[in-house]
Amino acid sequence: MKKKIELVVLLFFIAGLAILNRNLEEQVSSSKITVRKNTVVIDAGHGGGDPGKVGVGDVIEKEINLQIAKKVEQLMKKKKIKVIMTREEDAMLSGEGNTGTKAEDMKERVKIINGEAPQLAVSIHQNSYQDAVVHGAQVFYYSGSSEGEEAAKIMQNALLAVDGDNTRQAKGNNTYYLLKRTEVPTIIVECGFLSNSEDAANLCDDGYQDKVAEAISSGILKIIHKGDTQEGTEEKTERKSGTS
Ligand SMILES: [Zn+2]
Repeated sequence: MKKKIELVVLLFFIAGLAILNRNLEEQVSSSKITVRKNTVVIDAGHGGGDPGKVGVGDVIEKEINLQIAKKVEQLMKKKKIKVIMTREEDAMLSGEGNTGTKAEDMKERVKIINGEAPQLAVSIHQNSYQDAVVHGAQVFYYSGSSEGEEAAKIMQNALLAVDGDNTRQAKGNNTYYLLKRTEVPTIIVECGFLSNSEDAANLCDDGYQDKVAEAISSGILKIIHKGDTQEGTEEKTERKSGTS
């Protein structure tokens, strides 16, 4: 009889461990909320009545952001990562027919990100500066987030695949609304400077956009799999190709 009771207790204990283990696999604890593993939000910056930066040759930021974001989406889906896009059209997220304000648009993006609770949110933008010489990709994170900082550094490193000579470093920021208000690790990827003629021409080129999207995708995979203990062979191959 005593042995039977011991066996029942042991079985309950094993069942408890199994449930605990399942929860650990499904959820990754984040600084503010519980995030959904293998889920990312891709945010194409600006849209509709908000063009973003207008660069050399009247290149419009909102269009490049969306083109690259869609390429990243496709690459992520191939890797079986769940992708949520904040926008898929040339439109603001606020109001009907682009009548909303920029502030409402930004609020909506934050609402989507916090609502979806992805493991990582990546906002895609293009930079601009008064000095036309300045060029190269740069990644931003919320200064108060160590997870954001770690993610940004991994992404900055992944972007070296596009330009190995890029010396820009991931940079902290504590004023950007999107970085401040999101409750999951969020990074802003500025793919290049539209105020620089070479960057601007490159960023309009379909083949170059593919390269940028591939680098961003490999960065995302490295970020979301960094804590994994059991990895599939596919992920290992990805890591190798990403760092070469
Ligand atoms: Zn922008």
